[in-house]
Amino acid sequence: MILSTPSVAEIRRAIRNIPNFPKPGIQFKDITPVLADARLFSGSVDLLIDGFKPGMVDAVVGIDARGFIFAAAAALKLEAGFVPIRKKGKLPFQTYEQEYDLEYGTAAVAMHVDALKAGSRVLIIDDLLATGGTAAAASSIVRKCGAEILEIAFLIELGFLNGRKRLEGLPVRSLVLY
Ligand code: AMP
Repeated sequence: MILSTPSVAEIRRAIRNIPNFPKPGIQFKDITPVLADARLFSGSVDLLIDGFKPGMVDAVVGIDARGFIFAAAAALKLEAGFVPIRKKGKLPFQTYEQEYDLEYGTAAVAMHVDALKAGSRVLIIDDLLATGGTAAAASSIVRKCGAEILEIAFLIELGFLNGRKRLEGLPVRSLVLY
């Protein structure tokens, strides 16, 4: 490793705020500048998996879609498998599905029924924790398989939305808090 580990403050400075995207009133956290910088990208993955070493984790579960980027990189670093949890209707094989509430209506996420073995040790990674609905639904699917959730890690947490409340009892890590 020739790149020095970045600080959380450096990662935070690289996150771009886009007001009113994708709709009025939402401030979108754009992580693409973090991804474009080799040191920040690799370093943010190191911070997301800090404390875990190869051999400690069987699979890293990434949540559609930006979660895939960090989770796949984490899986390589940890020499673990990568498992996608996608929005319902995208995966080709048999799936477990879990609905969750949105501000208006519901959404659902899905995972292949054979993606995780009972007892496997799993990290779940997404780019951002907002209301926690997506991560709670993902956690419930992972537990349906009998897998053990070691941690759920996010690059960004919007603390004012209290997403952690929906993940009560689960170990949650976030790097950059707003
Ligand atoms: P939630 O289920 O409310 O916790 O929403 C989390 C999911 O929505 C994550 O997969 C994020 O990628 C996305 N998301 C929610 N709010 C934002 C935001 N302000 N900026 C970027 N992504 C967001």
